[in-house]
Amino acid sequence: MHLKPVIAANWKLNHTPTDAKAFFQRFLAQVPKLNERTLVFFPSAITLTTVMDALRDRPEVWVGVQNVHTEVQGAFTGENSVLMARDVGARVVLVGHSERRHVFGETDAMTTRKMALIAQGRLTPMLCVGETLEEREAGRTAEVVERQLSAGLAELDDVQVGAIMLAYEPVWAIGTGRTATPDDASEIHGVLRRALVSRVGEKAAAGIPILYGGSVNRGNASQLLAAPDVDGLLVGGASLDADSWASIVRA
Ligand code: PEP
Repeated sequence: MHLKPVIAANWKLNHTPTDAKAFFQRFLAQVPKLNERTLVFFPSAITLTTVMDALRDRPEVWVGVQNVHTEVQGAFTGENSVLMARDVGARVVLVGHSERRHVFGETDAMTTRKMALIAQGRLTPMLCVGETLEEREAGRTAEVVERQLSAGLAELDDVQVGAIMLAYEPVWAIGTGRTATPDDASEIHGVLRRALVSRVGEKAAAGIPILYGGSVNRGNASQLLAAPDVDGLLVGGASLDADSWASIVRA
């Protein structure tokens, strides 16, 4: 199956609502409607409504949240829920980003729970998996990403699995300027695709986009996107500047 590439911007803890308005004035002037790409923005929860407003004439662009809590409501000061994300109009939710796992201590069990809540809430989860440098050097990359994938899918039925997005983001490549080669990315995307095939079969697995993320920039985006089994890009730093992001989405 030929998938439309998914090009996603993870703004992390950057861009106030004022910054976002300026970003979209510049970005939208350069990028007309893109039928051949699915474009996704993950702003902070506080900036999200400003982004949705800036994109009100561009309903083909998806807006998502960077995280949700493991419960949908209650006494959890500082958290945001799937219910809130859906109500505000978000369509997709990042789960298990390496900063959630390694800075905030998100466990595989938490990703299992979040994936189930997001799927039940009829939003699209984008599950991030990736190995640390130490795990890579120990030859454990495939084992680590397979374990993270299996935890993420543990409570989903096959239809829900068929509707996810997946991102391979080696931890050593995120925000470091060190990118996986297209061959390295393809190899691990192949591992992930085979794991998806054994879970849901060829046809459903072929419809799940697997994005690569980790120091993507306007210089390496087209090569990575052309690599076998790479169906899109998840970009942090290089998505913050409107001009750099416009070049990447056109890659
Ligand atoms: C990310 O945060 O998902 C990411 C890939 O960051 P960067 O592009 O800055 O490496």
